[in-house]
Amino acid sequence: HLDFKFVKENVDMVATNCKNRFSNADPHKVVALYDEFVALKSKADALRAERNENSAAMKGKLEADKRAALIARGQELKDELAAVETTLDAVESALQREGQRVPNLTHPAVPLGGEEHAAVLKEVGSQRQFPFPVKDHVALAEALDMVDFESAAEVSGQKFYYLRNAGALLELALVNYAFNKVVSKGFTPIMTPDLVKASVLEKCGFQPRGAGTQIYAVQDSPLCLTGTAEVPLGGVYMDRILPEEALPVRMAAFGHCFRTEAGAAGMAGKGLYRVHQFSKVEMFVLATPEQSDALHQELIDIEADMFEELGLHFKVLDMPSGDLGAPAYRKFDVEAWMPGLNRYGEISSASNCTDYQSRRLNIRYRPSTGTPAASDSDSEAPAAAGGKKGGKKGGGKKGGGSGGGKTEFVHTLNATACAVPRMIVAILENFQQEDGSVVVPVPLRPYLGGMEVIRPPA
Ligand code: AMP
Repeated sequence: HLDFKFVKENVDMVATNCKNRFSNADPHKVVALYDEFVALKSKADALRAERNENSAAMKGKLEADKRAALIARGQELKDELAAVETTLDAVESALQREGQRVPNLTHPAVPLGGEEHAAVLKEVGSQRQFPFPVKDHVALAEALDMVDFESAAEVSGQKFYYLRNAGALLELALVNYAFNKVVSKGFTPIMTPDLVKASVLEKCGFQPRGAGTQIYAVQDSPLCLTGTAEVPLGGVYMDRILPEEALPVRMAAFGHCFRTEAGAAGMAGKGLYRVHQFSKVEMFVLATPEQSDALHQELIDIEADMFEELGLHFKVLDMPSGDLGAPAYRKFDVEAWMPGLNRYGEISSASNCTDYQSRRLNIRYRPSTGTPAASDSDSEAPAAAGGKKGGKKGGGKKGGGSGGGKTEFVHTLNATACAVPRMIVAILENFQQEDGSVVVPVPLRPYLGGMEVIRPPA
């Protein structure tokens, strides 16, 4: 979320930003709740101080009536404090709830408006012309015995699939190819848990429960299935303070994504395009505010590099304000040409979330000495209070500002390296041949035992 003090001081600008982002959040309500929170907090502090004075006054010898008066006052203060704390808790929950609905600020270069206002930043290749009638990936994959939707429907339901034969091998090849690529770019490879606590999902900006949620929650458990490895990666440095020299941190994970896809329907749902479970290699970066724009560019360059190497035709889009969701400050999507579906389809997404996630995840860094004093003034913000695992990693320390100078929130960025099913759609549809076989992109061949063409199994 945004710094509540910042919202208070810039409420009109934040309200305009909400409008630009098609968000119905109410920053004025956030300010009112924040004021109430601050007032109640200072009242609680004052009562606590008076209670301490009162009990100090009881030490030593006292006349009986004076002691009785102090005891009575002590009881009054205790009751009053309990009442204030109850209200404070309720106001804090409301502030968090309303505050979390306010979207991140928006990069000045982002085009304003809905989906149709996306700006094309780059275009690679062109739509391949076929001298034969093209098939879509479903027809191709079924004829090549690479998928089994029927069994999946029986076993798991609609929008699930089995990958078989070259389909199964292709998933592993894509994952290996993408993993090796990001490792060669300096990312630490990580295998992440696919189940995460609902509280961590929330801190990353996802809504684990409620109508329209994309998240599968596990009944009678605090756990949810991850929608993206962004969540377990975001959680790695939760409640830590990193030295500035440790930034940027580049991580890449292989994980499974589980999505209810509530509200999604139609042709876009055909075959492998929109499914409930898929494998993905995801990049995640922690950076200083000064580094984050350049790292966002680095992430989109890595994606574009891979898609070009694989021979796809695609566009890099600067997504407009109405299409950013809550956490992203700026988002670059890649849409690849899918000749069988006869349209462009999103194959990756790279977001700079600035300090919107890190504020709640409580991931900070300590600027190195010599750097001007950090400006973050978050002392009254209730978020992310009570860190836990102090000192576990490097210079990690719990809480904020505990000695050694001021700390600032890191910027977080996330980007798809390879979302497997959509890559399979793009590869099958673009590299199909008249006889229904599919030419394997050259960079994937080493991961497929040298296979050059996918043909039906003998
Ligand atoms: P996101 O984490 O929503 O930005 O998605 C990352 C990438 O995963 C997208 O760019 C798509 O390529 C892919 N993707 C998203 N949702 C699905 C889905 N339901 N089925 C298959 N692929 C998906």
